[in-house]
Amino acid sequence: GRSSSAQRRPGAANAPAAGNKAAGYDKPWRQNMADKGGAAGGGKGGAGAAGAAANKKQYVGPDQELANMLERDIIDQGISVKWDDIAGLEEAKRVLNEALVLPMIMPDFFTGIRRPVKGVLLFGPPGTGKTMLAKAAATETSCTFFNVSSATLASKYRGESERMVRVLFDMAREMAPAMIFIDEVDSLCSQRGTANEHEASRRVKTELLVQIDGVHGGGDKDKDAAAAGGPDGEPPAPRHVFVLAATNFPWDIDEALRRRLEKRVYIPLPGHAQRLQLLKINLKEVDVADDVNLDSVAAQLDGYSGDDITNICRDAAMNGMRRLVAGKTPAEILALREAGKDSFKEPVTKEDFQQAIRKINPSVSKEDIKRHEEWLGVFGST
Ligand code: ADP
Repeated sequence: GRSSSAQRRPGAANAPAAGNKAAGYDKPWRQNMADKGGAAGGGKGGAGAAGAAANKKQYVGPDQELANMLERDIIDQGISVKWDDIAGLEEAKRVLNEALVLPMIMPDFFTGIRRPVKGVLLFGPPGTGKTMLAKAAATETSCTFFNVSSATLASKYRGESERMVRVLFDMAREMAPAMIFIDEVDSLCSQRGTANEHEASRRVKTELLVQIDGVHGGGDKDKDAAAAGGPDGEPPAPRHVFVLAATNFPWDIDEALRRRLEKRVYIPLPGHAQRLQLLKINLKEVDVADDVNLDSVAAQLDGYSGDDITNICRDAAMNGMRRLVAGKTPAEILALREAGKDSFKEPVTKEDFQQAIRKINPSVSKEDIKRHEEWLGVFGST
């Protein structure tokens, strides 16, 4: 997308849209999930997730093929991002914990006046950790994690987007508790393109609004379940579906969608302490030379996003190897390795960082930050 693509699932972009005879394509997706050990979205995996999967009903419907495609492309399995992998953003973690994580693990408390919010919007410049936060929240709850990029919706499922939104929410309800993460949600409200595209995208958006309105009960299935009661005669706890959306362009989101994303959380560029934390997270596995003062590197990186800082660390960590191989032929490099210099793991020096910082510029402009802060002032809500 327009932000970092590092977190995107490679398969989603490359898989052919139709005619795919991959294993499991013509099986009901629920069966397919069971084949995979029921580890859908479960960072924790294990018996709990498998047990939960066994309790879930099978989706059978007219859009079985679409459901199969979605299951393959959009359900993110085996993610395991932990809160601690994410530098800073304590306020965002707190909000997500209260709005998503707690209602999922104790649904019986979050009813009536305490009903969970319908949706949460994460907004801010690209590369600041929005996708990571979504994944960490999903890992934390072992819920089914639907990772939807709006760009995929618009291109791959072109013409079917509206139906796909409906099937997506149907599946999520069957596999609840579930989280639907919609990245680049602003592009669903895009006004660009031909009149036809405009009409189509308006229909997709309307369908999305209808579905978000229905996420916490009110559906026929929920009423049936409530009437039937739980195994011990108690009404069953609600099975929640949560919508988490992210955007780098919150001002493009129209009012109707904005209202449904009840909590709107700003994910800013990292401050000094968070940048230092980012450096430490990124350099966990590499040696850092004694001449490096991470505190002053962090000070130098004011204005850089988390993604920029990750790129700088990656580049700096390559410099030692580059020095060793510079000007050498492959044969000479091989000889070096045989001579025992095979690790190429030189400590990262102060100069390595300076070179990387000279090469890589901050990807976010001051005007962009200003626009976000203005929007935060008007529409932010935690
Ligand atoms: P966004 O969704 O906001 O565009 P991502 O969550 O995809 O950004 O972050 C892109 C990459 O940048 C991550 O894979 C990670 O390497 C790094 N990154 C960004 N913010 C953070 C953070 N707060 N903590 C740790 N890593 C981060």
